[in-house]
Parts: sequence; C-alpha cells; structure tokens
Amino acid sequence: MSQKYDYLLVGAGLFNAVFAYKARKAGKTCLVIEKRNHRGGNIYCETVEDIHVHKYGAHIFHTSNKEVWDFVNGLVEFNRFTNSPIAYYQGSVYNLPFNMNTFAKMWDITKPEEALAIINEQRAVIQGEPKNLEEQAISLVGTDIYTKLIKGYTEKQWGRDCTELPAFIIKRLPVRLTYDNNYFNDRYQGIPIGGYNVLIDALFGDTEIRLHTDFLSDPEGFQAMADKVIYTGPVDEYFQYQLGKLEYRSLRFETEVLDQPDFQGNAVVNYTEREVPYTRIIEHKHFEFGTQPKTVITKEYPETWVEGMEPYYPVNNEQNQKLYQQYRALADREPKVIFGGRLGEYKYYDMDKVVESAFRLCEQEL
Ligand code: FAD
Ligand code: UDP
Repeated sequence: MSQKYDYLLVGAGLFNAVFAYKARKAGKTCLVIEKRNHRGGNIYCETVEDIHVHKYGAHIFHTSNKEVWDFVNGLVEFNRFTNSPIAYYQGSVYNLPFNMNTFAKMWDITKPEEALAIINEQRAVIQGEPKNLEEQAISLVGTDIYTKLIKGYTEKQWGRDCTELPAFIIKRLPVRLTYDNNYFNDRYQGIPIGGYNVLIDALFGDTEIRLHTDFLSDPEGFQAMADKVIYTGPVDEYFQYQLGKLEYRSLRFETEVLDQPDFQGNAVVNYTEREVPYTRIIEHKHFEFGTQPKTVITKEYPETWVEGMEPYYPVNNEQNQKLYQQYRALADREPKVIFGGRLGEYKYYDMDKVVESAFRLCEQEL
C-alpha cells in the first residue's frame, strides 16, 4: 500500500515549491508529482555552453512586496539585472518601456513637454474610457508608438486584433516622461545568481518529487495518496473540459548556439513588426552578465493553443473569465482539491504574485 501524505502537490512549479517549503517547516509531508522531466515549471533553466538558458522564455523576478523579496533572498542571492528591452522595428531600435529615450528617437525631440504635446495631439482621437487594447494604447502613448511598437507585437502575441483584446494587458507597461529604461516600476528586481534552479532546489529541499507522472493518468489513485491535493495544472483540463475549453496562448521556442561572444548586446530584443514571425529574441548570457566565448539565443514564436500543447498564457478576456467562474464553482465543490498558480487560478500572474498567492494558501492551510 502506498504511503499517505498530508499533501499531494500536482506540478513542480514555483507555486508548489513555495508551498512545499512552508509545509516542510510546519512538519507536514508532501509528495510532488510532475508530468515534465524536470522540476521548476516555467522558470526552469537548462545549462548550455555554461550559460543558464531560460527554457520557457525570459524570466525576470521583480516585486514591490518586501516580504516576497526577503523570502526569496533568504534562499538565493539575486544579481543586479534590470530589464531594459529594445524594440526593433524596420531596421531601427527603440528603448522600452515607452519613455523619453523612445520619444526622442521616434520624434527627434529632447524635452518631456515636447513629447507630451505630441502624445496629447495623437491621443485626442480617443474619446471617453478606452474600450479595448487599441484605444487604451493610443490614449497612453499616441498613434505613432501604437502603430510601430505595439500593434504588430500584440497581434502576434495574442493572435487577434487589438480591438478584440482587453485594455488591461497594455496597462502593465510603464509610460514615463523621464529617461528611464527600466521595464518595471517595482522596487526590487534581479535574477537568482546561478539561475532559477538554485531557487527551486532551495524551496523543494528534500521533498519527494516524482517526474514523468501525470495526475490525470489516475486521478482517484493519486487523490487516495494524500489528505489533500494542491493542483497547479489547468483547471479546465482537471474537469475534462466538461464546460468547454478556456483559451490559452502557447509559444514555440527555437534555440541556437552561436559561435560568437555577443549576438545582440542585450538580453531581450522585441520584434514589433507583424511580418517578423517571432515576437522576441532572448540572449540568455546577458541575464547574468556572462562572458562565455559562445552565446545562446532563443526566438519566441507565439502559437494558438490547442489540446496537447503547453498553455503558457491564460487569455483573460470577458468570455474566458465567465467560463473560468463556472469552473471555479466546480472547483469549490471539490472538498479535497485546492487549485493554485497561474493555470489553476487562470490568472496572468508574474512570479511574485505566484509567491504571494502561495503564501495566502499557506496561511489558510498550515
Ligand atoms: P507553472 O510554472 O506552469 O508550473 C505548473 C507545473 O504543473 C508545470 O511544471 C506542469 O508541467 C505541471 N503540471 C500541469 N498539469 C499536470 C498534471 N496533470 N500532472 C502533473 N504535473 C502537471 N513572471 C515574472 O515574474 N517575470 C517574468 O519575466 C516572466 N516571464 C514569463 C515569460 C513567459 C514566456 C511565461 C510563459 C511566463 C512568464 N512569467 C514571468 C510568469 C511565470 O512563469 C509564472 O508566474 C510562474 O512560473 C508560475 O508558476 P506556477 O507554479 O503557477 O506554474
Ligand atoms: N507590448 C507591446 N510591444 C512591446 C512589448 C509589449 O505591444 O514591445 C504589449 C503586448 O500587448 C504585451 C503587453 O504589452 O502582451 C505586456 O507586455 P509584457 O512584456 O508585460 O508581456 P509578457 O510577455 O511578460 O507577458
């Protein structure tokens, strides 16, 4: 007979890693099952040519929550990386997020009041509260920046017209009238020295993890192994899509090793033209100021998710939110199962928000 654990954690990503850490401290036993061949979920790094490759896309830890920052720094040291992506459009480069460096290059001006005058003139086409991403973007930065740096990128990323996307997606990006290329407004930011696996290993410690193990291959059997289950896979998949499928965006990553020390001089370059099929190129060594003789780059191609693919981004529009609420009601009726994390809660969470959400669960449970 199999051993009985306090918790069965489905998925070895960041959410369950935080839970496993706190559960261990509270004297609870956990078994983790993970269908991939590694732990870490989407923050997993693979070492290639002595470079930590962010296997599932660029990951930069940023937060304004001191409790979260102190927690992760208690486990691993962070470097001073500040995300300052570049946007490439028809042979020219522009600084991101949208700030005085972007405006100076776009309009050949130098002063904040000049930039503001241009933006105000261009944003006047939008009357009233922005109803979708296009209107929101134009009312934030005007039509030139919308056309060159937002429209193509966003339509590639989300696979639909900007008029059919919710405004909040673009509100994540800062707009500044200062010369500041920091992509985030958060107080704290960095990359774990040694890559994200160091953080994941510190969180899981000696917690038992079984890889290549899919909960859905035997839900009853796995449930019977523990008093409670914490499920971080997609909530609709758990319920066998009985109410219909939630929408996700997927990605395809194309990684190459190049025999040169530096390919693009920056960790992230966004390709904002619709005609270029990928959204960005990541050069991994720059996350950790690497000086290796070779370099590793990854092109990121957005894809429409269909069953069997990795669901990377929840598409949090109105229609999906409604369906999610119905799944949420089903989830609330599962006495032994708690749904957590980006897929379990169907939320476009960054890592710090995942840690916060896991903290909330720990407070309730442990
Ligand atoms: P996941 O990492 O998805 O882990 C869930 C795990 O569950 C997976 O390993 C999966 O294989 C496993 N699983 C699912 N179903 C089953 C099953 N049936 N049986 C067994 N195992 C199962 N956040 C930031 O803060 N900064 C960034 O710069 C950033 N960049 C990102 C870039 C990309 C391309 C993506 C996709 C995300 C990015 N994020 C970023 C978000 C970040 O990846 C997430 O917040 C975080 O990894 C979510 O952790 P999680 O544990 O909820 O989920
Ligand atoms: N975005 C854009 N151009 C860019 C970068 C971002 O239009 O060069 C838009 C796009 O709609 C994207 C959103 O801003 O989905 C949020 O960007 P962020 O980098 O936060 O998205 P992530 O890839 O981290 O989810």
